[in-house]
Amino acid sequence: MSRKITGHTELIGLVATPIRHSKSPAMHNAAFEALGLDYVYLVFEVGKDELEDTVKGLKAMKVRGWNVSMPNKAAIVQYLDKITPAAQMCGAVNTVINDNGILTGTITDGTGFMHSLKEKNIDIINKKITVVGVGGAATAICIQAALDGVKEISIFNRKDDFFVRGEENVKKINNNTSCHASLYDLDDHEALKREIDESVLFVNATNVGMGNLQGQMVLPDINYLNKDIIVYDVIYSPEETELLKQAKAMGCQTLNGIGMMLYQGAEAFKLWTGEDMPIDVVKKELGMS
Ligand code: NAD
Repeated sequence: MSRKITGHTELIGLVATPIRHSKSPAMHNAAFEALGLDYVYLVFEVGKDELEDTVKGLKAMKVRGWNVSMPNKAAIVQYLDKITPAAQMCGAVNTVINDNGILTGTITDGTGFMHSLKEKNIDIINKKITVVGVGGAATAICIQAALDGVKEISIFNRKDDFFVRGEENVKKINNNTSCHASLYDLDDHEALKREIDESVLFVNATNVGMGNLQGQMVLPDINYLNKDIIVYDVIYSPEETELLKQAKAMGCQTLNGIGMMLYQGAEAFKLWTGEDMPIDVVKKELGMS
């Protein structure tokens, strides 16, 4: 980094564990440098046990704000002064803004997802989408999509410990938005095929395709898709999951999760600094085309 850290330099952080692999420092520091903003972004490997002390410390040090990731996204809510409606509905926070000691928590994952679609001129408003997953990423996506005016969301998940969260998400969406959400067992293959056929967008918001599940697909086979559906995988490492590879070969338009990651960061950046993130600079830094 060519910038000099001085007595005036302000800190922005990311509080999570494990987190050393994160692309957020590269993204935000490139943006600070490009705009000549005197901030530095660092990650702090902190889990739930140290979270309360960390929040108190960051507040006492008048740190302007920070990101939050696993396992702290839900746990941090109790230590904040205000929560935005979307974060309230998700029960999770990924961005904290410190306004003179008042800590506000918000979530920018869902808006980041919606922004990444807009960037590609993909319009899902008033349309039906199918999402697999009910965890953190899926919840943020479904809630924001519903708040933004998606007409119908068919949510699928396997019957694991997460399934109950899917039931809660469906209730929240149906009670608080004009969107109609339904939850299905991922093993209900007939429903899966039918709901995908009626949707304009298919989203994988599970871990299937990365880590020890790399090379696997969340669908029983690719013929559950058709060439007219747009396929979004929230995973960005690997850049092209097995799902995206096979969907692309079928002729589908495909998107990976890097756009969601980029725009969740851009929104947080704006909230902390008041400036628009220089997207082209950051894309270059992240190796995006
Ligand atoms: P999570 O642990 O909260 O949820 C995991 C979800 O995956 C659950 O719905 C679970 O039931 C499902 N799942 C796990 N293993 C499965 C399997 N073998 N078969 C079927 N379903 C399975 O995780 P999360 O935070 O929601 O993250 C999910 C994915 O989203 C991860 O790959 C993560 O990297 C990605 N993510 C991307 C972004 C982004 O900005 N692009 C942001 C957050 C998360």
